[in-house]
Amino acid sequence: MTVRAIQRFTVRPVLPDVLKPLGDLALNLRWSWHADTGELFRTIDPELWRRTGGDPVRLLAEAAPERLAALAADPSFVADLDRVRADLADYLTGDRWYQRYAADTPDAPAAIGYFSPEFGITEVLPQYSGGLGILAGDHLKTASDLGVPIIGVGLLYRQGYFRQSLDASGWQQEQYPLLDPNALPLSLLRDHEGPVRIEVPLAGHRLLAQVWLADVGRVPLLLLDSDLEDNEGPERMITDRLYGGGADHRLAQEVLLGIGGVRAIRAYCAATGHPAPEVFHTNEGHAGFLGLERIREYLADGSGFDAAVERTRAGTVFTTHTPVPAGIDRFPRELIAAQFEGFGDLDLDRVLALGAEDYGGGDPGTFNMAVMGLRLAQRANGVSRLHGEVSRRMFRGLWREFDEAEVPIGSITNGVHHRTWMHPELVSLLDGARDAGDDPDAERWDALAGLDDGALWALKRRLRGELINVCRQRLAASAAHRGQPAEWTGAVLDDDVITIGFARRVPSYKRLTLMLRDPERLARLLTHPTRPIQLVIAGKSHPADEGGKRLIQQLVQFADAERVRRRIVFLPDYDIALAKPLYPGCDVWLNNPLRPYEACGTSGMKAALNGAANLSIRDGWWDEWYDPHFGWEIPSAEGAADQDHRDAVEAAALYDVIENEIVPRFYDADADGVPRRWVRLIRDAVAGLGPKVTAARMVREYVSELYTPAAASSKILDSAAAEQLAAWADRVRAGWPGVLVDHVASRAEDSVQVGDRIEVTALIRLGDLEPDDVEVQLVAGRLDGDDELRELRPVPLQAEPGPSDEVHRYSGTVAVERAGAIGYTVRILPRNRYLANSAELNLVRYP
Ligand SMILES: *Cc1c(COP(=O)(O)O)cnc(C)c1O
Repeated sequence: MTVRAIQRFTVRPVLPDVLKPLGDLALNLRWSWHADTGELFRTIDPELWRRTGGDPVRLLAEAAPERLAALAADPSFVADLDRVRADLADYLTGDRWYQRYAADTPDAPAAIGYFSPEFGITEVLPQYSGGLGILAGDHLKTASDLGVPIIGVGLLYRQGYFRQSLDASGWQQEQYPLLDPNALPLSLLRDHEGPVRIEVPLAGHRLLAQVWLADVGRVPLLLLDSDLEDNEGPERMITDRLYGGGADHRLAQEVLLGIGGVRAIRAYCAATGHPAPEVFHTNEGHAGFLGLERIREYLADGSGFDAAVERTRAGTVFTTHTPVPAGIDRFPRELIAAQFEGFGDLDLDRVLALGAEDYGGGDPGTFNMAVMGLRLAQRANGVSRLHGEVSRRMFRGLWREFDEAEVPIGSITNGVHHRTWMHPELVSLLDGARDAGDDPDAERWDALAGLDDGALWALKRRLRGELINVCRQRLAASAAHRGQPAEWTGAVLDDDVITIGFARRVPSYKRLTLMLRDPERLARLLTHPTRPIQLVIAGKSHPADEGGKRLIQQLVQFADAERVRRRIVFLPDYDIALAKPLYPGCDVWLNNPLRPYEACGTSGMKAALNGAANLSIRDGWWDEWYDPHFGWEIPSAEGAADQDHRDAVEAAALYDVIENEIVPRFYDADADGVPRRWVRLIRDAVAGLGPKVTAARMVREYVSELYTPAAASSKILDSAAAEQLAAWADRVRAGWPGVLVDHVASRAEDSVQVGDRIEVTALIRLGDLEPDDVEVQLVAGRLDGDDELRELRPVPLQAEPGPSDEVHRYSGTVAVERAGAIGYTVRILPRNRYLANSAELNLVRYP
């Protein structure tokens, strides 16, 4: 019989006094990207470090007391500890990029709340499922490096996301190890009365949560946790798993994240004196209820509903992350009604209207979190240039009076935290290339120029070898688990064979098995006698996605076959720990999504920073920054009649590029055994893409293009201004039917030349509105054989004395900048200094 404990404790170790700072270092997650700190922990006990998967908290808990005593008496270790501790203290307090930015930017916010359902910071905190979480983790780490005052908000899932293994047939199995927060690099948020308790109404009940604090460098991350004895049974389970359960469960999680998250920030600021956020950023729609909580706060403060909405909108940024309909959170309307009945002074119908799909093609019974996110955020963006376009098309129903190009959703292309994702040897090359006078925030992306071709090629071979070791170990463990012989796994993969990586979640649009389209052709590439390829593949399928699990099974069964198994491996349990050696070990990173469903994709960026060439459909970021110096495109057959045909065409193109371009280039070595043209690709990818794909570029763009303008809007929109704005919007909506373009005249011939100016005069009527309420624009554009204007270029027209009190005259000129068919029109838009863009009210009048 096994004996079960009725209570468990985690006993924190007592460290010798001189080693006490190790405890503080372990609690700040900067160790996960700061090589010196990681190295310090490793030297405590390299074998234990390996066994704990590089977890400082566990390492300290399990280290032998004699070893700790010996280190306490070792002056060189103590000196190292002192240096690393001082470095962290410096890092936490010194001025960084944002402090310089804020000194010149009066509107720079004092704090930003950043909400996400998942955060991928380190494998030790398995609170992520894929790209969305990794991005959120990279956002926080980079904000920390740049000194941006972000407060992260998420949930602490007691079982995290699942761990993946395979059964004998290659079917995915899921395990959910229980996490003990006391054994993680977390501390409980406390105020003077003890641990903080957050209370949230949950469909008539009262839900309580405690808040765990993770220190991500300078950035605090608040993680709400409902596993408290004071909660009813089912409510304790709300933060059990990431993306588990049905609609009720997900709604409960999102209520806790959005509403509880704002309350957790308030508690954190009260307890620590941290300034309150002026900007709230929601990473995808899951945290969208934060907007309702902020409306509730403003109502409690005496605002009217419309004014509260305006104030909330002014300080909210919404980022949409997926064009895949299944990726967007939608709830039955009744569930939302049951949840928000009697929530503060909010009128339920107004709440329901915020998420209503009340546009063509929408479902009247559905509450859509992305739609609410867009309605409650004055600023919104997609995550690559192409995804911005796709999002404008996807959500144009919310602004249907406007041309698609004018839908107010911009884009900021994702980036990756290079100090997390580049191999430590490459990071040290960047650091080594630095000169004393260099801008502290700029990296030396040309650092690989400091190595000659032979040395760089040898380094890449070593990184490939490190990955191969990882593959062999993991494959041996997996074979044993699957009840299969494991001897052969010691000989899989080859240090000198071109290594192609493919790892990501397994939703159908990512097409894990496209490479299996012609199995014979793939087998020939893998087993070529002199110029073979090898493939390293990994990815988890969502536990409820049977289709995804079938794809994994097909791939595993292909890879199990004796004739190819030395050259193609599927590694179970893709996570940060596996991803880190994977990118540096690959020569080519493969990505073949169904365009345009990959909103951005970040794994290819990580691979590029490690000197891998990208081989990808031109989707997401690769559409934007594809360049033959950095890799290859797989032509996308979007015009194909059906998906089967499209897959066939794209797979054939994939094999062709590998066989005819990639393989010859890789194996084309000179007398010294160095493939010069390939080595150039490695250098070009790092030097050319480094400055673009880093999260530092991304976070700076968020700061200057979204956070600062949102803080500025939020600052000027005080309660009086918000009431005025709400009343103005009401009046403009009511008066809009009386707004008309009466007559437009221009002094121009039918044929004009480039450089000419066209003069236009318009007579308009405003009914009950005033000239100050509107802007009158001349909109020029290109014509394509029809009357539809494209590439609109609006310029404001100037008011002139009008012919009567009712009729107003406006005039102006437009310069003809290009040859070909052009045209123009005149339009009237609402104008108010508090609007961030003129499409906001979805009102416009054309002749
Ligand atoms: C980068 C990363 C992802 C995201 O990869 P995509 O190419 O954006 O799908 C997912 N999981 C892990 C572990 C990662 O490191």
